[in-house]
Amino acid sequence: MTKIKDVVRALEQYAPPAYQEAYDNALLQVGDPEATVNRVLVTLDCTEEVVEEAIERGCNLIVAHHPVIFKALKSLTGRTPVERTLLKALKHQIAIFACHTNLDHVHNGVNAKLCEKLGIENTRILAPKSNLLTKLEFFVPVEDTEKVLEAVHAAGAGQIGEYTDCSFRITGTGRFTPSSQANPHIGQTGKTEETIENRIEVIFPSFKQNQVMRALLKAHPYEEVAHFLIELENENQEVGAGMIGELETALTAEEFAQHLKKQLNLITFKHTAWPDKLIKKVAVCGGAGSFLLSKAKAAGADVFVTADLKYHEFFEANSKMALVDVGHYESEVYTKELFYDILTKTFSNFAVDLSATNTNPVRHS
Ligand SMILES: [Zn+2]
Repeated sequence: MTKIKDVVRALEQYAPPAYQEAYDNALLQVGDPEATVNRVLVTLDCTEEVVEEAIERGCNLIVAHHPVIFKALKSLTGRTPVERTLLKALKHQIAIFACHTNLDHVHNGVNAKLCEKLGIENTRILAPKSNLLTKLEFFVPVEDTEKVLEAVHAAGAGQIGEYTDCSFRITGTGRFTPSSQANPHIGQTGKTEETIENRIEVIFPSFKQNQVMRALLKAHPYEEVAHFLIELENENQEVGAGMIGELETALTAEEFAQHLKKQLNLITFKHTAWPDKLIKKVAVCGGAGSFLLSKAKAAGADVFVTADLKYHEFFEANSKMALVDVGHYESEVYTKELFYDILTKTFSNFAVDLSATNTNPVRHS
């Protein structure tokens, strides 16, 4: 039996909540985390219609990209669409979980899905985030090194891109005098001791600090573990906004427009004048991406595909890079397929349904 909290944990492992924007509200928003999951409905938005769909399908958990509770609620009376959605979910004991900007920011998240839809390869994060990594240095007797390293690796330290179990070490002499109250692993109280130790350096995502430290202290033989924790300014190449990559074959503007319409199922889309060259390098950002305009330009994109561009922002395109606004819903609707993939790969004892409700409030005539 899988509980709601198990599904939440799996999705939060994939897209750590620590990677969401400060303004965001990505978490379990409605429901009892201890309840058993019957069936899950995955969707871009959680509207009243989506809750109705969940009721019809017998789903007691809705996983949505956009948080239904985004602004503070002051009442719950059914006065607004959000309040009605929540009341209906509560009445039918349906939980609602939102996985939002944290899923935008992971390298295998919303933008990776958009790139996959558009056949964009050799991708990298367009605007990697910094200040998300911590370095741990610790000192350990040579003979205990492997055991302690194994423990901190298992807790999430030492991963750099496609490389795991990364560490660096220098062997030297540790010197200490245990007090009369101490219970030393090596040496005697009141007597200065010298021992051969390794100084180990590993890095880890800062949000894993507690688990890494717990693992270190548990596996280390010393009563007092000498260590340094250093916050790094480095960029984390695997976490950030937008994505850039290349089409397998360069396309003419006309071909690219057709490709975009076909792959994203568009009726129409807005764009600036196409560059006077074949389109090969494409930057994307699902949802509102105008804040990445200069990054996309600097990265040499031929086209930047995003949504929610304002009139004056379209003027920021130039002869080298066209701006494309496909619509917010259209750029992110495939996020539900991402939820579907993650959940069906992780769990086999309940069904996951892709919502069939079109939640796009925008119509094209
Ligand atoms: Zn969005």
